[in-house]
Amino acid sequence: MKAERSMQKALEIAEEFSRRFGMRGDVIAVRAPGRVNLIGEHTDYNDGFVLPVGLAHSVYVAGRAARGGASRFYSMNFDAEYAFDIRTPYEPGEPGWGTYIEGVARVLEKQLGRLPAVEAVVWGDVPLGSGLSSSAALEVAAGHFMLEAAGVRMPLPDLARACQAAENEYVGVQCGIMDQFASCLADAGFAVFLDCRSLEFEYVPVPLEDHTLIVLNTNVPRKLAGSAYNERRRSCEEGVRILQKSLPDIKALRDVTPVQFDAFQDHLPGETAARCRHIVGENQRVLDSVNALRIGDLAAFGKLMNASHASLRRDYEVTCRELDILHDAAVDMPGVAGERMTGAGFGGCAVALVERSHADRVEADLRDIYLRETGIALDVYRTAAMPGVRRVDL
Ligand code: ADP
Ligand code: MG
Repeated sequence: MKAERSMQKALEIAEEFSRRFGMRGDVIAVRAPGRVNLIGEHTDYNDGFVLPVGLAHSVYVAGRAARGGASRFYSMNFDAEYAFDIRTPYEPGEPGWGTYIEGVARVLEKQLGRLPAVEAVVWGDVPLGSGLSSSAALEVAAGHFMLEAAGVRMPLPDLARACQAAENEYVGVQCGIMDQFASCLADAGFAVFLDCRSLEFEYVPVPLEDHTLIVLNTNVPRKLAGSAYNERRRSCEEGVRILQKSLPDIKALRDVTPVQFDAFQDHLPGETAARCRHIVGENQRVLDSVNALRIGDLAAFGKLMNASHASLRRDYEVTCRELDILHDAAVDMPGVAGERMTGAGFGGCAVALVERSHADRVEADLRDIYLRETGIALDVYRTAAMPGVRRVDL
């Protein structure tokens, strides 16, 4: 059913490609998912653990290798075309949607040597700028498509790193590796348990059976997010510096156990202690979540989601009124195993684990409450854990 839907979408985009660029030879189509992080928030830049799943919402690229030097991409979402030639030097400008694609092309070209020019159509239903990583889905879909067009194989962790490098170097966003990694390596029915220090990963079952994942989009722009993000990073670094006086072997908060933290947290200024408490606790909650999911204990996992939200609200202070309204409403509803903000915070999305038989009512009630209390319409997406980037057979 789900596979049929992505096949149908890919066919529509391939048809758009043929209309725009003319019918010549075979069309290559690729799908890459957005992602939602189930637990492990702000742990990535502390060398810690994350647990994302791939979404049904995805970015598709359909096209083929082209003659000549210039590559052309048409985005159906923006109804705009973007052209570039990787054989000529890069001309930096204000980054736009084409920059993600050109960045990936240039990073891959540097690593692999000559890539053929391509022409392609892009379409996606990952909401833009809501923290579900439409940017990584675009990079990964475009990157995988360009590799397929070149007839080159690359291990998916390497493609993830190339896409991250493109976003860092060309778009100028200092993102971690989680988003691109999840879009590349997600798997149906599994979460990706990723160690952000070593990049080692394991698949952990997400045995939804009579449950479903519901993503709640606050539709609140993530104002403040940039400066607060940098402040949080500085607090974590300060915490490490102070704790190193007592624990000389630690390199990051990832190395501090909850027991060690309890013993030495008095050495930290109040706000720094709160920030570090979240990170130390959150890493432990990811490990506990992995154990709970492995034995199919969704009730225990839901409680960990709730504890994560509480910690992000009280200690890390990256929630906002709208995210807290959703959380407080959801946790009291029958059928909700757990609910938490996901992504960097200050708006964006939350994720809930809900019993399937209650999902319609939970969704309707949350829409009502959210609209009444905030005046904003809530967007809701149901998803299972979906596979990572793939060529779609047409
Ligand atoms: P997020 O990754 O949380 O969705 P970002 O700001 O990192 O938010 O990335 C959003 C940007 O990614 C968009 O502004 C656009 O430039 C690009 N993008 C995502 N999806 C598409 C698409 N289908 N077509 C063109 N550009 C896209
Ligand atoms: Mg992004």
